[in-house]
Amino acid sequence: MERILNYINGKLVEPKSGNYLDNYDPSRGVVYGEIPDSDREDVKEAITAAQTAFPEWSAKSNEERSRIMMRIADLIDENLEKLALAESKDNGKPLKLARRVDIPRASSNFRFFATGVIHFASESHLMEGEAINYTTRTPVGVAGCISPWNLPLYLFTWKIAPALAAGNTVVAKPSEITPMTAFLLSELCIEAGLPSGVLNIVHGLGPKVGQAIVEDPDVPLISFTGGTATGKAIAATAAPMFKKLSLELGGKNPNIIFADCDFDNALRISVQSSFANQGQICLCGSRIFIERPIYEKFRDAFVEKVNRLKIGPPLDESSNLGAVVSKQHMEKVLSYIDLAKKEGGKILAGGNRVELDGEFSEGYYLEPTVIEGLDYQCRTNQEEIFGPVVTLTPFDSEEEVLTMANSTEYGLAATIWTQDLTRAHRVSHKLKSGIIWVNCWLLRDLRTPFGGMKKSGVGREGGWEALKFFTETRNVCIKL
Ligand code: NDP
Repeated sequence: MERILNYINGKLVEPKSGNYLDNYDPSRGVVYGEIPDSDREDVKEAITAAQTAFPEWSAKSNEERSRIMMRIADLIDENLEKLALAESKDNGKPLKLARRVDIPRASSNFRFFATGVIHFASESHLMEGEAINYTTRTPVGVAGCISPWNLPLYLFTWKIAPALAAGNTVVAKPSEITPMTAFLLSELCIEAGLPSGVLNIVHGLGPKVGQAIVEDPDVPLISFTGGTATGKAIAATAAPMFKKLSLELGGKNPNIIFADCDFDNALRISVQSSFANQGQICLCGSRIFIERPIYEKFRDAFVEKVNRLKIGPPLDESSNLGAVVSKQHMEKVLSYIDLAKKEGGKILAGGNRVELDGEFSEGYYLEPTVIEGLDYQCRTNQEEIFGPVVTLTPFDSEEEVLTMANSTEYGLAATIWTQDLTRAHRVSHKLKSGIIWVNCWLLRDLRTPFGGMKKSGVGREGGWEALKFFTETRNVCIKL
């Protein structure tokens, strides 16, 4: 049994209660470790440590903070294989994906914000002959960072890195479903010489640990990524306390294929954007809209490609899809496939749980599933499934596809496939999504604003947006 510990005030410590939760290996459906079942007392200790560390950390120069963060990034790279194995085991994702995407992105997050903060300049505005204004941005205090299970270390560091770079100290909670790489990160922070109390990681359940962080008056800033319902509960607690709040929430992203697209690229990348990480990426395109003249050709080629995807153990290099994250999540996804059938959908590919052989027979594997014949307003096409399930819908005009694409309560990301540049611009500007990809998917420049409209969130992460969020702005006006 692998037992992980909290990271509080620079030390790896047991939860005060002495209680632990089970940690599952989704590829085998068995418990393989224990996670601290922390509570309010552990959170309070972490907040006190972060408050104590704040004056010294925030007073360091950007260059000094940057140097320490660059050491953490180097250690993540040096431990790439260990971290990728841990991520794959904890989450069920293919090892090759963790090795290629999740872990390299975690070190990039540290490096990006460690270097970015050095160039994060203040502004000044001259009122000619009258006055000069200058604007300062200073660290806020203790930042509360709460992250989900789908891209565990990737999204955890996406919050922690800008918070620390800007001079805040942090109390963070990874998802209790996938806490392992956050624990390994705490070991690396100790090795890198991060001063005690600057980053504190408290493991445990959302409604206990997460809620205690959000409720605490000594945490003036909350950065949360997760489901829309959880985001709503967090906002209800944080808003009356006037905390700074960043919410990255759910999505139901449209993937729009026009008849003039580069067919082969649209097809190949649409398979990825549907099923990467078992469809458990907030940016996956779960509703594919195909212009009528190529509907049948695209549908048939898509289904053929999907049927060739291999579902297998995460460590097997030939697996395209691993396990979904938990039994509960697998059951949720299966219930949506049942709902789709009840709503009149036709299953063109997949639709079932997969039982692998031997030690993997209890793992949580699902077939990549393709459904057609559903109304765009039905629940299957409106609610976030967050698994390897996509729907196909034909369309006849731009106006029609925009109505369908914009019909959900979400507005996170969208993809457009067309060779017509004018149309690409026109449609991009009419889509109610925070992130739009044209003829590509998940091409990320960390300087760009990241986040969604409508119920997909509040605020933006990435680049200067993140550093602005993690600082308090003050304008000083001096009469000349
Ligand atoms: P949840 O909302 O269930 O959980 C997210 C985090 O919040 C977890 O650490 C969870 O802890 C914690 N939490 C739960 N309840 C509370 C509470 N009352 N107070 C404070 N914290 C709490 O999301 P999932 O982990 O299931 O992640 C999947 C969701 O995340 C999907 O909706 C997906 O779209 C969204 N997502 C959004 C992204 C974006 O950038 N917009 C990116 C990636 C995912 P615990 O795990 O212990 O319950």
